[in-house]
Amino acid sequence: MSEASGVLYIVATPIGNLADISQRAVQVLAQVNLVAAEDTRHSQKLLRHLSISTPMIALHDHNERDQVQQLIQRLSEGESIALISDAGTPLISDPGYQLVARAHAEQIKVTPIPGPSAVIAGLSVAGLPTDRFVFEGFLPAKSAARRTRLTDLVKEPRTMVFYEAPHRILATVTDFIEIFGASRRATLAREITKLFETVKQASLQELADWLQQAPENQKGECVLMIAGAEITRNLDKLELDLETLLATLLGKLSVKDTASMAAKLTGLNKNQLYKQALALQQPD
Ligand code: SAM
Repeated sequence: MSEASGVLYIVATPIGNLADISQRAVQVLAQVNLVAAEDTRHSQKLLRHLSISTPMIALHDHNERDQVQQLIQRLSEGESIALISDAGTPLISDPGYQLVARAHAEQIKVTPIPGPSAVIAGLSVAGLPTDRFVFEGFLPAKSAARRTRLTDLVKEPRTMVFYEAPHRILATVTDFIEIFGASRRATLAREITKLFETVKQASLQELADWLQQAPENQKGECVLMIAGAEITRNLDKLELDLETLLATLLGKLSVKDTASMAAKLTGLNKNQLYKQALALQQPD
């Protein structure tokens, strides 16, 4: 890292409730030489609210490639820059990837100022397993492409998180029903931290019915979370029923073949299964 270069701060901002801005975010936004914002007019309101007058520059999907050179130059000359997006954490379905990648390539220090992100806020209230999850961002807008993506995900065992636009939420849930089945559990977190915040956990079919019940249910920003496929739980069930499985196989096969077949079916250790099958065949 060059001693002379400044720091690139990746600063999270609120996803609705302005009180969610962190003290460090306020300090950094006030201290840096420049704030790079996705939409300067939008972020100007936040900075004004915080009584911060740091100069701003636009960095969005359409100019990121061109702006990166200029921003890296300024960082290399010792200026510090804060990157913010319209809401939440930059780079999470938001611009900034090219800038952060270049900063690393140029040995410029990149540091996060963590805070709100709709994916984490949504997961925290989803009531679905969160020990492992996948963030899928936005699905394709067109139904055919969306269904192809969903087909690839149908066996995904981890909880899946999607961002979706309000005008597509019903069509998307309908596609989920077709590909994942009506009974798969899902949670819709809408307008998180805002006045009309709603967290609805239901089966996909119940969710589709609820969305159609009232026009306002389809309004606002939303995070859609879908329970993973039941594959792991089926394996658990297999392990529980191991004795039955071994006894059934022993009715037709030798101990060795039973162990080998059971290992293939369950993915468990063959030697261990051999010992268990042997014990079953020769009970004390
Ligand atoms: N960078 C942001 C983050 O960290 O969450 C996400 C930006 S992405 C362009 C915007 C999408 O995030 C929205 O379409 C919606 O799916 C989700 N989102 C943002 N704010 C939200 C909120 N308050 N409630 C629910 N979803 C929200």
